[in-house]
Order: sequence, then structure tokens, then C-alpha cells
Amino acid sequence: MLTNNKLIKELKKNLTPDNVLATPEERYVYAQDASNIRDINRLPDAVVFVNNIEDIQKVLLTANKHKIPVICRGAGTNVVGACRTDHGGIVLNFSRMNKILEINQENMTARVEPGVIVGDLQKEADKLGLYYPPDPSNLAVSTIGGSIAQSSGGARTFKYGSTKDYVLDLLVVMANGEVLRTGSNTIKNATGYNLGSLFIGSEGTLGIVAEATLKLIPKPECRKVIMAYFDTIDDAIKAVNGIIEQRIYPTTLDFMDKNAIQTVEKFYPSGLLCDKDAALVIEVDGFACAIDYQRDIVVSILNKCGASAIQYSNNEEEYERIWTARRSSMGACAKLKPNVTTDDMIVPRSKLSELVRGTRAICEKYNLTVCMVGHVGDGSIHPQIPVDYRDEDEYNRLKKAKSEMYELTARLGGILSGEHGIGSEKRPYISKVVNSTALDYMRKIKKTFDPNNILNPYKIF
Ligand SMILES: Cc1cc2nc3c(=O)[nH]c(=O)nc-3n(C[C@H](O)[C@H](O)[C@H](O)COP(=O)(O)OP(=O)(O)OC[C@H]3O[C@@H](n4cnc5c(N)ncnc54)[C@H](O)[C@@H]3O)c2cc1C
Repeated sequence: MLTNNKLIKELKKNLTPDNVLATPEERYVYAQDASNIRDINRLPDAVVFVNNIEDIQKVLLTANKHKIPVICRGAGTNVVGACRTDHGGIVLNFSRMNKILEINQENMTARVEPGVIVGDLQKEADKLGLYYPPDPSNLAVSTIGGSIAQSSGGARTFKYGSTKDYVLDLLVVMANGEVLRTGSNTIKNATGYNLGSLFIGSEGTLGIVAEATLKLIPKPECRKVIMAYFDTIDDAIKAVNGIIEQRIYPTTLDFMDKNAIQTVEKFYPSGLLCDKDAALVIEVDGFACAIDYQRDIVVSILNKCGASAIQYSNNEEEYERIWTARRSSMGACAKLKPNVTTDDMIVPRSKLSELVRGTRAICEKYNLTVCMVGHVGDGSIHPQIPVDYRDEDEYNRLKKAKSEMYELTARLGGILSGEHGIGSEKRPYISKVVNSTALDYMRKIKKTFDPNNILNPYKIF
């Protein structure tokens, strides 16, 4: 077994020494992510800033030779413990591989390095009249590599799909240092197995994304957002179905419950109506000549479905104000207690009402505050629970509540994650929703791609 000192020496010899961090303080910073799992079990052995594909290969060759874990890290904002270093290892930091290599206007594609920030790609595409729709709420910091590895979604998934729908081609460094190309620069591909889809959502356990070619689409000419308030959660959920039954396809169908509305308003005053039990955030987009028509149809359906108040954006400033409020829910929640956890259970839309009511009841049973938001058009909710991990009793109640929430989701025919992934946090629960044969095949794929189990080991299963 290689000692830590020898490992650092070998890494510094193979890479630029300044790119290798190894003090306890530096390593501590990279042991945790946004999952807020309570205990840090082990620090990484080293942190390496990679500049190019050759650097990634060099690290993998060292790691594979000595059977040391390699954990990729984008912005470290995943909420499931997907880049925790519970088994030590080398953290790969992609913040210096952050170039947009090309935006091809003719093909409507972007070729990017993994450390590119999602929001930065959106801004660059926007300048050319193009659009990259995947929009995790923290798009101002989350990276393309991380969002591919988690298959991130966001509010716009309802109309435009999630990250997986925009990946055309990946350049992947395998555990043994080989480089694999998964697709091509084309919109369709029926040429052999779809290897790219294996890496999307694989949480860095099968290979390391060194470059991605992503699909862009034309930027919608105009967009407006409507905030509709309801006196009961059931009325809000009924309105979701009411809109879909009318075969209207908004860009987003998002949800905030009373606790979420009040908490956001307390910390980020945005003019939300705090006496209402629930709100829907609905965006429509398209040609400017049709936008008010679309909005008016949605508003009339919302009125028929019992909306008790409606606000909508008339300009970009009002649009941003409403979306900033919705996206601030987790940050606001984090101000209530030292820790905050979130989940992303997803069920068939017909079961949504039961999931929302059931989750609330579980939190009440365990005396936990919950701010519920979610992409309800997709059937997905994010119960955000502020807690204080120093309070042992509260911590234990949280664990019991989570287990019951996952059981409820399974009973309703849902799955544990629509967009956040499994990581180490939900690993004990995956067998509740994935059958044992499927899990066996996943393990066999992992063994084929990474026989020494060095790539982000013990995540997912
Ligand atoms: C406030 C907040 C809001 C959020 N909102 C949303 C939301 O609306 N929708 C949503 O889907 N998610 C959301 N998330 C969670 C989401 O998973 C992450 O924010 C984001 O997609 C992860 O990006 P990251 O760069 O932080 O990745 P990291 O957390 O750094 O990494 C995530 C995973 O990707 C792996 N990885 C990173 N880079 C590579 C690479 N180059 N090759 C292979 N593997 C790699 C890591 O090892 C890890 O397993 C939110 C998180 C927070 C904190």
C-alpha cells in the first residue's frame, strides 16, 4: 500500500506540483459536498486541479496502479453525497477545465470542457440566439460535468427535458486511462449501443467526462411567468392536471407550499402572498405574437381551477423577480437552521397529491419543518427540511422520516430520484425501487468499466 507522502510525491512528479493540494486544511474542504451528511469519515488523500485530458489520464494511471479512489468534483453542489471522500482517494477538481471550446451556429451545438458553469453556457448561447434549456436552480455555479454525471434537471424539464436530452457526444477517460468517444456531432445516432447514456447519471463511477458536445435549440422569442396562488395544496395539484388536460404545454409547472412561500418572503422579500397555502409557478414561452394568448389561456384555466390570486410578469425584471424567489427556496430554508436537506422523489403525476400529502404527514409525525417545492408537472417534489445535526434527537427523527418518505414513494410506483442522483445518501434505499436483477447488471457494468473499483467507489450501490 502506497503511503500518503509517496502518493503526493508521485502526483507532483507527474503533474505540475502547484496543481496538487495536500495539507489537511486543503483536503478538509473537499471531503464534503452539499449533501450535508453529518459525519466526515475520511479526508481525501490529495486534490488535483486538472488542466487537460492528459492530466486526467496521468492521475488515473497512478490511481489504477495503486488502487486508489478517484472522485471527480465540479462545484460540489450535489445534494446526495456523490463526491464525498468516505474512502479517501484523489479528488479531481475541474475548475480550470472551464472553456467553451466552440458554439457551432450551423449545427446548433456547443463543445465544452467539464468545468464550464451551466449558466455561463446559457449566457454565451443566448448571445447567438440559441438556448441550452437544462436549468438546475443553482445554474449560477453547477458545472456541465457535474450536471451530466447527475443527469440534472430543473423547472424547464417539463417542456424541454433534462441534461440527458442534450448530450450528443462525450469524450470519456476510462479508469485505465483509455479515451472513449460515445457519440458524434449529429442530432441522431443509431450506430451501436448508446454508451453515452451509461455515463449520464453515473455519478463519476464509470468514467470521467473530459469534454461534452451538447445540443442547443433556438431561443424562444419571448417568455412570461405566472404565479398562481391556491387556498389548499389539493387545489394547486388539481390545477396542474387541469392545465395538462387542456393539452397546454407550459415551459414549467412548479410548486411552492405555504412554508416555502413564507420562508422565501422572510429572507428574500419578493412580494409573494404569504397567506396562501400553495402556489404554482408557470412559465410560457414562444413567439411574441402568441405569448399573451398562451398566458391568457393558462390564466383562465387557473381561475376555473380555483386560483385565489394570480400575479404575472410584464417585463424581464418581474420575470427575474418571480424566478429568483422560487430558486431561493433552499437558500432561504438554510437560514432557518444550520443544516438543510432536500430530496427529489418522483411519482407518476396521478399520484402526486398522495405524495405531497403523505410527505407532509410524515414530517408532521416526526416534528420536522418542511418547505416543499417541486417540479410538479414532472411529478417531482423537493421536500426541504431545515435541521440541526447537533441535536441528536432531531437527527434521528430526520433519518426515520426520510426512510418513510422513500417507502411511500415506492408504494406510489415512484423512484427515489428524478434529478439529484443517489450518491451515498440514498444508496441504502436503492433496492426499494430498483429490482435486484437490474442492480446485478449495474454492478456487472461497473466491474467491466472499472475492474479495480477506483472510480468514485461505493456510490449508488
Ligand atoms: C441550492 C441547490 C439547488 C439545486 N437545484 C437543482 C435543480 O433544480 N435540479 C437538479 O437537477 N439539481 C439541483 N441541484 C443538485 C444538482 O445535482 C447539482 O447542483 C449539480 O447538477 C451538480 O453540479 P456540480 O458541478 O456541483 O457537481 P458536483 O456536485 O461537483 O458532482 C456531482 C457528481 O458528478 C461527478 N462529476 C463531476 N464532474 C465530473 C466529470 N467531469 N466526469 C465524471 N463525473 C463528474 C461527481 O463525482 C459527482 O458524483 C441543486 C443543488 C443545490 C445545492
